[in-house]
Amino acid sequence: RLVPEDITTLLSMTQPLKLRGFQPWNVFCDAVANMVNNPLLPADGKGVLVALRPVPGIRVEQALTLCRPNRVGDIVSLGDNRLVLFLAFCRVNDLDTALNHIFPLPTADIFSNRVVWFEDNQIAAELVQMRTLSPEKWAKPLPVTATEKKIINAEHDGTSWRRIPEPLRLFSEATERTS
Ligand code: C2E
Ligand code: C2E
Repeated sequence: RLVPEDITTLLSMTQPLKLRGFQPWNVFCDAVANMVNNPLLPADGKGVLVALRPVPGIRVEQALTLCRPNRVGDIVSLGDNRLVLFLAFCRVNDLDTALNHIFPLPTADIFSNRVVWFEDNQIAAELVQMRTLSPEKWAKPLPVTATEKKIINAEHDGTSWRRIPEPLRLFSEATERTS
């Protein structure tokens, strides 16, 4: 039988759902572990873990600048030359739909290799592997990503990618004054 302290513990395990976007490797692993071990969430329905290896010539840090999770609970990290994404509550059949929302380019243009885990025990086993990665192999976002400067001037409005209009003045103040 549940006592209030247990409920508090269980609810605190849903905290990772409040994270979004880039997380350091250890924070990412802890967040996914909390999700997978949370008995309040549906068995084998916590979400999809996907590891993406960039095409030759693109660094993971560069690939990250193209990765824009919109949904709270969608988290990403970099390590061992892979970009790992956890898409909370995404079904495996919807993975391509979700990736199309998250990347403004076809993922096949950015990544040459994809590995997907979606059952609790698969995700838990991969986490054991991921936790063995030594900190010198963790990668950090480029400074430009850290300041959230957009590489492509577009945002996802829930349906499609839209360019963000920029105001453009056709005449300078000086020109206006001479008229
Ligand atoms: P779902 O979560 O069951 O959502 C089903 C449909 O409800 C979505 O179809 C979308 O039309 C609508 N919907 C759900 N949440 C939102 C929202 O926050 N905003 C808006 N505007 N609409 C929402 P859609 O877009 O074809 O996605 C199909 C499935 O793909 C989703 O099923 C989910 O499993 C997955 N998915 C899509 N985008 C994302 C994402 O950004 N992150 C994650 N984790 N999963 C996603
Ligand atoms: P959120 O779940 O954090 O999602 C933030 C934004 O990501 C959404 O803004 C939408 O632009 C995009 N997004 C997330 N999931 C999906 C998806 O499955 N399909 C599509 N097409 N886009 C997605 P938006 O639409 O303004 O929604 C704001 C918030 O309202 C969402 O935050 C969520 O908390 C809630 N919401 C909206 N629609 C739904 C829905 O169908 N189901 C649920 N469970 N929540 C929804």
